[in-house]
This record gives sequence, C-alpha cells and structure tokens, in this order.
Amino acid sequence: MKDNLNMVPFVSVENMMRLVLDIGIETAMEGIAGYIEDDFRRWPLFDKTPRVASHSQDGVIELMPTSDGIDYGFKYVNGHPKNMKEGLQTVTAFGLLASVETGYPVLLSEMTLLTALRTAATSAVATKYLARKGSSCLALIGNGAQSEFQALALKRICAITSVRLYDADRAATRKCARNLEGSGLEVVECATPQQALEGADVVTTCTADKQYATILSDNMVGAGLHINGIGGDCPGKTEIHRDILLRSDIYVEYPPQTRIEGEIQQLEADHPVKELWQVLTGEIEGRANEQAITLFDGVGFAIEDFSALRWLRDALETSDRYDELDMIADPDDPRDLYGMLLRERARMG
Ligand code: NAD
Repeated sequence: MKDNLNMVPFVSVENMMRLVLDIGIETAMEGIAGYIEDDFRRWPLFDKTPRVASHSQDGVIELMPTSDGIDYGFKYVNGHPKNMKEGLQTVTAFGLLASVETGYPVLLSEMTLLTALRTAATSAVATKYLARKGSSCLALIGNGAQSEFQALALKRICAITSVRLYDADRAATRKCARNLEGSGLEVVECATPQQALEGADVVTTCTADKQYATILSDNMVGAGLHINGIGGDCPGKTEIHRDILLRSDIYVEYPPQTRIEGEIQQLEADHPVKELWQVLTGEIEGRANEQAITLFDGVGFAIEDFSALRWLRDALETSDRYDELDMIADPDDPRDLYGMLLRERARMG
C-alpha cells in the first residue's frame, strides 16, 4: 500500500469480492481465524466495551470500537430481520482501522462480506477448541446470508465433512444447498430441525427473528453436542431454550456484552460462563469430557472485526484490490486549514 497518509485505502464490495476470490474463500476465512486466534491470545491488552446499540422496533444499529494501543478499529453494523422480506440484507456493515499514534484512518472497508467471513471464522475457532475430537457432521439451522460461510469455515478449519440444512423457508435451504454444490461437503436438506440434528456433532444456529425464538428445544440436544448460537445477538432475540443453557458449559466473547445480547440474557446475571479467549491461552479448560454439551454463545465482538481488518490490511500489502480515498484534510501548514480552502477557491477561479 502507498505511504501517502492523506489517502486512505478503501475496499469496496467489488474489491472485497475480488480479493477474497483471489485468495480463495476458505483460505481467507482460515487466514482471518488465525488473526482472531492471535488477538484472543492477547485479549487483556485490548480496550473493551459492549457495543453501542441504537434499537428501534425493526432492528438495531451498532458501533463496535476497540484498540490494542497501536491500531484502533470500529465497525458500523445493523441487524434488521424484516429487511430480508423487502429484498434487503439483514446485516450490513462497514469499518475503519486507524493509527493510535496519529489518529489518522489507515483503512476503510465494506464489512458486510467481511462480517460473514469473520463470524464464520469465529465459529470455527470456537468449534476447534470446544467440539469433540473427530467431529465431522454439522447441522446448520438458518440457511440465510451467513450459512454457507459457516459451513465452509467449519469444513476448512474443523474438518467437517457433512452438513445437514434446515430453514423455516425451504427456498433458503435450496439456495444454501445449491451454493455448497461442489464444495466437497456432503449436503443433506432436512424437513425439520429435529431431522437436521440427527447424527450431528456440531450445530450452528443462525436464524434471524426479533423475538425469543426456540430454534433448539431441550429434547433435540443430546450429550456431547457442540452448539454455536450465532443468531441470538440482541436484547429480546434468542434461539436456544433456557433448559439447554442450564445443562451446557457456556463460553462467551465479552461477558458484559453477551449478558445483554446473548442467549444468556435468559439466565440469572451471575450464571457462570467461561470466556473463550481463556481457552485459547490455556488459562481454563475447554470441553470437560465427551458427554459435555458446549455452547458458544456468539454475539460478535469488536476484537473479531479488528482482527478481520488487520487481516485485510496485511492482505492489501500484496494486492491492488483497493481505491484511495481523499478523506483527510491535511494542509501543508497544519494550522492553515482555512488557507487551504482559500487556495482551492483561487484554483476554481
Ligand atoms: P438472514 O436473514 O439472511 O437469514 C436468516 C434465516 O433464518 C432466513 O433464511 C430465515 O428464513 C431463517 N429463519 C428465521 N426463523 C427461523 C426459524 N424459526 N427456524 C429456522 N429458520 C429460521 O440472516 P443472516 O445474515 O444469515 O444472519 C442470521 C443471524 O445471525 C441474524 O440474527 C444476525 O443478526 C446474526 N448474526 C450474528 C453474528 C455474530 O457475530 N454472532 C454476525 C452476523 C449475523
């Protein structure tokens, strides 16, 4: 990338698609997962805050900031379950990385695609550390925008070989199955969530509904299952029955945020949960035994977006899939911002 501080590299949706296709979709997610693992291992040094959410009747708009003291990042993201019926995305996002030293932005990017990649990479990291060894079959409940990414990240990073799909809307399952054709995964379309869970070692729930939904009920979850609960990520929006939570070992990203947004909003405020980053550093154990039910109550935390932006910045070192944005007003004399405006008027004639 160029060293001109005034010009900020910008990755558009088109360039993001091309960059990811240049690299390979699964390789990109594996790369992002590596950055997430690195950042989870240095978790204590990050600035952390629950995301700043602006709720409305139809959805939420959120800001997700963090910093490791060298770089600062934030993501703008929405969640509007009703959008899909109107032909719009449920989740869209963009984000920025800046230098802590100067405060200048160093990268601006679309993050709708990048969020799907990082969310899948995060599920894969959780699954890698928490699922039973030898897990090979994934049940995927909710076959919308996130679903293929979830399947492919778990294939690449966790050696999943078959995926059992269920969605309340059969057309979503058809779309997902079609998109996964030729991926090397054995794909089974299921008529009920119960059927999807038959023989599954891991289940990812990624449905979108702004209510306390019961995507997984107690009788569906047997001993040894690992659950990635991804879709419950807002106050009043959950997927997993409380009784399952009570028999699970629950792992979260950042407890103060997950208590507000995650499945555990259904539990007492002091119900014990474990922090995923501590499993990666070895400070706490992961899965206790083959019988344990492990739940990754994933709501999406700012550090994962920061990791994804760091991955992107490094990927652009060897790629020209970006434009340069004239985003920083930076006169030669830093105090003469007004003079810069006058000189431009003179140039305009
Ligand atoms: P989407 O709207 O594209 O797909 C959601 C799918 O869920 C749809 O196909 C819908 O038919 C299905 N669905 C709704 N209710 C269902 C039910 N009761 N049973 C089965 N299927 C049902 O949404 P998306 O972009 O794929 O996102 C899925 C969820 O993941 C959203 O709730 C979103 O907010 C969340 N999300 C979480 C993270 C995270 O980091 N945890 C990141 C991105 C998205």
